[in-house]
Amino acid sequence: MQQHSWDVIIIGGGSAGLSAALMLGRSRRSVLVVDEGRPRNRFAGHMHGVLGRDHTSPLDLLAAGRAELGRYDGVTVRPGEVAAASVAEGGFEVVLDDDGRHLARRLLVASGLRDELPEIPGLAEQWGRGAFICPYCDGWEQRDRRIAVIASSAANVHQAQLMRQLSADVTFHGHGVELPDEERAGMLARGIRIDDRAVVEVIADGEGALRGIRLADGTDAPVDAIFVGPAPHPNDGILLALGAETAEHPMGGRWVTVDPMGRTSVPGLWAAGNVTDGRSSVPYAMAAGSLAGAGINADLVEEEVGAAIATA
Ligand SMILES: Cc1cc2nc3c(=O)[nH]c(=O)nc-3n(C[C@H](O)[C@H](O)[C@H](O)COP(=O)(O)OP(=O)(O)OC[C@H]3O[C@@H](n4cnc5c(N)ncnc54)[C@H](O)[C@@H]3O)c2cc1C
Repeated sequence: MQQHSWDVIIIGGGSAGLSAALMLGRSRRSVLVVDEGRPRNRFAGHMHGVLGRDHTSPLDLLAAGRAELGRYDGVTVRPGEVAAASVAEGGFEVVLDDDGRHLARRLLVASGLRDELPEIPGLAEQWGRGAFICPYCDGWEQRDRRIAVIASSAANVHQAQLMRQLSADVTFHGHGVELPDEERAGMLARGIRIDDRAVVEVIADGEGALRGIRLADGTDAPVDAIFVGPAPHPNDGILLALGAETAEHPMGGRWVTVDPMGRTSVPGLWAAGNVTDGRSSVPYAMAAGSLAGAGINADLVEEEVGAAIATA
């Protein structure tokens, strides 16, 4: 099969990948963005904390980004999945799910992450509508409402304390997580209730809207919003297969390490957004992608200067 050559291939067309493509397109680079179309926040009807786009659809933001990229003739955004990538002469060979093969001088992985929710029946159906992760993204809309924080680790205490800023009615459900005494004391001191009964089910009404939670002793507690801490799984298979270095993250697990511009330990291989940092929000992912786009362009320019001197 014929191989196409690009300056840069970007795996993932979310906030990070499209922002990188914008910088590269504006630098007259030839860029292929391949996107499966499953951004992390696709479950949410509205996105918040994004200046100029507060309370708008996250999918509309990406559609607008793709439309803007249409101004730059070097950029191609196409649906699909990158199945594999390997080091090739002068860069990388990338294989798509339709078996198309593409060459690129630089490769940027902006593939995001997958959230693994606690296994509580009914919770997945509420994800992004009645159950949330981020007080900054979805807390304001739940102000003064009945909030249940269901713990999967002690890190949920911080989430409960942030939500207490927004509502006086916050219950921390320990759900089997052992907490240091000072964490319990800190919550009780601010009026956060602590309930150590396990949560066995999330209950919805006939239209699927969140109604409450069922506890291990059969009690039903009415609840307006749930906050949980899903386990983040970066979509980093391609980075790891290419040998990118990882390090322990303070919030747990090993994550691919990048420099402030997004450069990994593998020459020519870059990464940006949630694939390198689970805490990153849409503005943060945009910033990381934008920096990576500019960094890759500068890296290519440096290579071109070297080649020009050698030729001269
Ligand atoms: C329920 C929920 C609500 C949220 N609300 C907000 C909010 O209100 N405000 C906010 O700032 N942040 C919010 N976030 C966080 C936000 O989703 C992330 O910060 C943002 O999506 C990260 O952007 P990204 O480009 O790194 O990854 P993503 O947006 O996840 O994009 C990655 C893209 O890469 C694609 N991809 C993955 N692997 C491949 C492959 N092999 N080949 C091709 N494509 C691939 C994916 O399908 C996806 O389209 C929320 C998150 C969740 C879970």
